[in-house]
Amino acid sequence: MSGTTYDFDLFVIGGGSGGVRAARRTAALGKRVAIAEEFRYGGTCVIRGCVPKKLLVYASQFSESFVDAKGYGWTVGERSFSWSELIANKDREIDRLERIYRENLEKSGAQILKTRAVLEGPHEIRLIETGKVVTADKILIATGSRANPHPDLPGAEHCITSNEAFHLKRLPQSIVILGGGYIAVEFANIFLNLGVETTLVYRGKEILQGFDDDLRHELHQAMAKKGVRIRCEDLLKEVVQKADGRFEAHLASGDVLDADEVMLAIGRKANTDDLGCEKAGVELDARGAVVVDDYSRTSAANIYAIGDVVHKLQLTPVAIHEAMCFVDSVFLGKPTKPDYDLVPTAVFSHPEIGTVGATEAEAAREFDEIEVYRAKFRPMKNTLSGRDETMLVKLVVDAASRRVVGAHVLGPDAGEMAQLLGIAVKSGLSKDDFDRTMAVHPTAAEELVTMYTPSYRIRKGEKLAA
Ligand code: NDP
Repeated sequence: MSGTTYDFDLFVIGGGSGGVRAARRTAALGKRVAIAEEFRYGGTCVIRGCVPKKLLVYASQFSESFVDAKGYGWTVGERSFSWSELIANKDREIDRLERIYRENLEKSGAQILKTRAVLEGPHEIRLIETGKVVTADKILIATGSRANPHPDLPGAEHCITSNEAFHLKRLPQSIVILGGGYIAVEFANIFLNLGVETTLVYRGKEILQGFDDDLRHELHQAMAKKGVRIRCEDLLKEVVQKADGRFEAHLASGDVLDADEVMLAIGRKANTDDLGCEKAGVELDARGAVVVDDYSRTSAANIYAIGDVVHKLQLTPVAIHEAMCFVDSVFLGKPTKPDYDLVPTAVFSHPEIGTVGATEAEAAREFDEIEVYRAKFRPMKNTLSGRDETMLVKLVVDAASRRVVGAHVLGPDAGEMAQLLGIAVKSGLSKDDFDRTMAVHPTAAEELVTMYTPSYRIRKGEKLAA
């Protein structure tokens, strides 16, 4: 069959950030494109991830702002919080964003299908809604991922994941969260600041594995001081429902915690179940994620996969970047590999983390000698408010080339700073470039360009005074 005899030039399975971007861009090139989504357009990010999470983060920050206001002369009257109002407002905003996603798709000329779609062969896709089989020259799998359900845990059926956390009928009085990654840490902070008694149970030595150790430690201390009970090197062994409907979380340490809700935040699993990958010759890895080459191409020559379903970096901007590279490679004749190097990222905890590049430990392993510039200080906003919370700013520099190879911030607006630090570190700027950049005063970010002498060095793994 030649390209024109297929029903479509491109069939996209999955209407999340990656799938929608690829469909829109390809349709705009005049190609015949269809996109199938069984649930809602926008995917994890818009419907049950980044966007609703950030709205909940904003909601949760007010409790601290009300307290801080006093030092600035304000008398804040009686306060009350309505979880149901927050959730209703959040849902309205998500509806609005979903509409925009659909409208943009419609404008692009892509055919929008509301159905689950599965592979029947390398060029054949079955639309489950009607049972009809359509054909496409190229197929893009962008089905995303879902919260790992932890089937080995007795009582897992009693637990919620982030999906349900966005739709709880009422705010729990107490919650136990399993996990020490992005979602566990962000939700622990959201719930605590909304007044929920919060316990985080993490199997490792320190939360947020993979982030700079300094930030992990400082964030742990800050969260614990605010009241999150953090239980490292412990595990959830069983969840039992009590007669009153509440739960007992049984831990490996032997402790039993009472809670209104138990939440699992232990990573995400690729959505490849019953997708027909074997019928189409698409190879999966041991975790069920689609295996792709450097150009997002699967083991079937005409089928590609992007986003969370490939288990590389499960981040929205990465999925969108992969979509752009896919269209360049496949429809514009410009073979383009997605670039996974130096991806900035943020954890929307209280305080926030913003980071890009090598951690101190990674850089110490990679380079003969590194310089670490580190400043820990009380941000100005915390002076009159009396808030006893410090900020940490850290630059990791390769001593030989002077290049800043890692930048890490813990504190207010760290996520916003990470975006700009991402440009500097990605561009390979040197510490001297940072030094000759004028400070913006008075800001917390000015510390990034005013740390003139290293706090310490690490030469061949040995920590030395500067
Ligand atoms: P993460 O991979 O960040 O963290 C998973 C956590 O669960 C880790 O602490 C891991 O421990 C622990 N874990 C895994 N399996 C088990 C188990 N069987 N028992 C106990 N603990 C376990 O995943 P999340 O679910 O937090 O988030 C999913 C992805 O979504 C993230 O990787 C991130 O890419 C993305 N995300 C990004 C956000 C952002 O950009 N701000 C926000 C939220 C999500 P260990 O460390 O020991 O492996």
